[in-house]
Amino acid sequence: MSKLLTGGCQCGAVRFTLKGQPGKASICHCRMCQKAFGSYFAPLISVGEGSLEWTRGTPAHFQSSNVVKRGFCRDCGTPLTYEAPDGVAIAAGTFDDPEALPPVIQYGTERKLSFFDELHALPGRSTSSDIEDTAWLVNLSSFQHPDHDTDRWSS
Ligand SMILES: [Zn+2]
Ligand SMILES: [Zn+2]
Repeated sequence: MSKLLTGGCQCGAVRFTLKGQPGKASICHCRMCQKAFGSYFAPLISVGEGSLEWTRGTPAHFQSSNVVKRGFCRDCGTPLTYEAPDGVAIAAGTFDDPEALPPVIQYGTERKLSFFDELHALPGRSTSSDIEDTAWLVNLSSFQHPDHDTDRWSS
């Protein structure tokens, strides 16, 4: 099955297309991924047998170890890639349709945070249910790039 998957950073300065069949979708609990994503874990889609093309801009990089580089948008800071000697993976949340590639495996479980397995049981509220407490949301104007390719973009 061949897929055409697109995505990019929050500001739209960096956009990509992933053609062909991607590799595994995973989450990684390792401490380096937590830090690089500013999150409890990193969701990643391996490029695998697919081919990754940067269609607007390119990521900046931080060399997080002697073997791994982390790509991110130099303008908005969105984490974009994990680049290791055995291949590249893309931050799953940056895809225009993150539902398309659900994770199938967890890595780095020795550093899984103690509360991770309980996250789904937390009480939840929708954004609109909080509207009385957050009146400023009524006038919200998003500067985030839309979830599709654009000919031009400036926020
Ligand atoms: Zn950006
Ligand atoms: Zn990791």
